[in-house]
Parts: sequence; C-alpha cells; structure tokens
Amino acid sequence: MTSKNKVLDHASLTARNSTPVADGPEDSGFAIFSATQIGESNKRRVLQMLFDLGPTSRAELARLTGTKRTTITGIVQPLIEAGLLIEVDPNEKRGVGKPARPLWFSASAAPVCAVFLMPDKVETALISLTGGVSAHRQVPIAPGKRNRETYIDALVAGVDHALAQAPRQALGIGVAVGGMVDPADGSIVAMNLAPAMAGLGLRDLLEDRFALPTIVDHHPRALLLGERWFGAGRGMGNFAVIYADEVLGCAMYLDGKPFRGPHGSGGELGHTIVDLNGGTCTCGKRGCWETVATLGWLRDRAAEAGLPGAERLDSERLVDLSAQMPAAGALLSRYAHNIAIGIANLQTLLMPDNFIIYGDVRRGGEIMQQFLTREISGLAASLPGNPITVFLGQNEQTITLQGAAGLIVSKQLEIEY
Ligand SMILES: [Zn+2]
Repeated sequence: MTSKNKVLDHASLTARNSTPVADGPEDSGFAIFSATQIGESNKRRVLQMLFDLGPTSRAELARLTGTKRTTITGIVQPLIEAGLLIEVDPNEKRGVGKPARPLWFSASAAPVCAVFLMPDKVETALISLTGGVSAHRQVPIAPGKRNRETYIDALVAGVDHALAQAPRQALGIGVAVGGMVDPADGSIVAMNLAPAMAGLGLRDLLEDRFALPTIVDHHPRALLLGERWFGAGRGMGNFAVIYADEVLGCAMYLDGKPFRGPHGSGGELGHTIVDLNGGTCTCGKRGCWETVATLGWLRDRAAEAGLPGAERLDSERLVDLSAQMPAAGALLSRYAHNIAIGIANLQTLLMPDNFIIYGDVRRGGEIMQQFLTREISGLAASLPGNPITVFLGQNEQTITLQGAAGLIVSKQLEIEY
C-alpha cells in the first residue's frame, strides 16, 4: 500500500510534524534539546517520536532532532533501565557494518486496560505499549438485555479479567464508546440503541471500582489514536478517520495535533446539513449528512430499486452486485457520491488530505476506495501537490482497543497523541 512510503518518509515527517523550539539549533525542524529545556520535556519528545515513527535507533533520533547521539543516550538510558524501552532487532541492515539496534517500547512495560463499549457488545483487553492485545473478552449484549446492569456487569468482569493478567500494575483504563460522550467528565451522553446508558458516569464508576485513572472518549477518536500509533496514520501530520456505517462519525489529526472542540466536543460530522430540502434526521433536524450516507439510506434505496436482499444490504454485497446488475452499480455510485459530499466538505474546510475509512463502507474494499477517491477529489478543494488519499482502515476491533489504550498512554506519559 502506498501509505507506507508516505508515512515513513522521515524528512518530510519531521517537517510536517514537528514542534519547533525557538532557541534550538537553527537547522533542525525538531529542535528539542536547548540548554534550558532538558529532562522531562526531552523525555516526552523522544517518547513522542518513538510513537510517531515506530522503532527508531539512537542515531536516527539524534539525526532527526539535530542533536548528538550521546545526548539521546543520556535521555533513553534511564528509560531502558526503568523497563519502558528496549533495544529490538533491526528490520533491515542499512549500509555497512553492524546495524543499529532500534529502540522501542518494551512489551512487558506497564500495560493498559482497554474497553470498547458498543450497544451490542462489551469488549475488554489488556494492551501492551507495543500494541499487543491479550486477555481479550467480548460479551454480546442482546437487544432485550440492554439495561445498565447488564453493561456494567460485563464491563467490570472484563476489566477484572484483564487486570488479573497484567504482568505489572496497569497504567489505567481507556474506554471507547460507540455513542456520544462527554470526555470532560467521562459520562455517556447518548448511545444509539441503548438509551438506558444515557447519563451514566462511566469514568467515575470505573475509577471507584478499580482505583485506576480512567479516560472515556468516543469511538472515532479511539480509531484515530489507534491509527496514529499502529496503523496507516503513523507519522502522518494530517489525517481524518471517517466511520461510516449505520451512523457517521469522524475524528481528525490536524497539523500534528488531535482536534478537539470545547470540552472535547466536535466530530458530529453526520449532523452537518447537506440537503436543504432533505428528510428528517434522528437528531430532529432536516437534511443531515446522516440522512443520505448511512446503511439505512442505502437499504431503503436498494428496496426501491428492487435489489435482492435489500434489507440486509451492505457495502461488500453492493460491490459484488454491481458487477452483475446495472441498478446496483448505479446505487453504488450514488452511495459513494453521498458519502463523498460530507468528506469533501470536511476536506475543503480543514484540509486533512488523508482519510482512513472504517465501518460498513470499509467493507466495500478497493472498489469503494476508488469511487470515494474520485468523488472526493472531484468535490473538494486541496492544495497543489497534496492529493487527497483514501485509505481503508485496518482491523477495526484491534485498532479501537489500541486507541482506547492510547488515551491512557498519552496522558500517563504526558505526550501528545
Ligand atoms: Zn442530524
């Protein structure tokens, strides 16, 4: 996939992704080691770079920061002795002589407990700082049992199970919720299809029960974090995650920082209005993007067109049908166009340039990817030399759990994600 070349270009990455320090060396875009800024700040920047780049040698860290290798050694040595970082095997030999041993997080450093809460399931796992998933549990929640007690029982049992397997005290509990949350107080504002969960103070509940720092955020932001650290978003300075399924959601990483509105809000892209005379949305307004670019819309139109299995149609099936039936091809084209409209508006406003697609639409595969790339590029503005790129997300379950853990890692290691 072309994303690899794009994200692992260290020189452009540093230029795009750096936070210059005013009194640093002049020739460095990532001048982190001025005489007055050492210690904690430098440690944070090195950890940040490792998360941005993946395993990286001391020499490479020195080169990218415009500092001496001995300075890097002085910073990383205590982190190695503390068991946070280790030397790993180099993937490839560069040049002659002994290859440098890259530094990376230790799989046995303090892990994080991750929770993925959706209306139909509760997932829990232990996530190592290298992204390893263990003690994974998934409890389905049937439609008739969606009361608070059921969810809380599954959550507590899953977290208990995960923490019992932790090789050392966990850094905390990171929770991704498929619904609206208030990240400021860690409560659930609303969960589609699980109305009993509205108003639940989930962070306080888990902190009281487990005495560990807990962060609750919405599902697309966990996807963003997971992509940032372990997926196609690694090292990208600008990208957006789009979740397109029965609902629409998004989260953005802009100019080297995650975007957050006041009180952690924002990302309700599904309720931006795209049709002045459109139908009524679940939010009560008319013509929201969500009324024309979700599975509900797709299935209604498929039924009107007489497509087989319309009531269970999804992007994967639609792509398959489109090869055989012109009506399915036409619907695929309309669906991709409608999805592209919301993404194009986001692109024109904020220019993330890179879009990583999750949810049902991802299951449309490369055909859907091609449709979206063409449609978005046709509708949106972009800067010269910055083509719009659409990526298919990786394993949604794993990336979400890694991202939920990332909420805690970024807080506990005091790095920006
Ligand atoms: Zn709406």
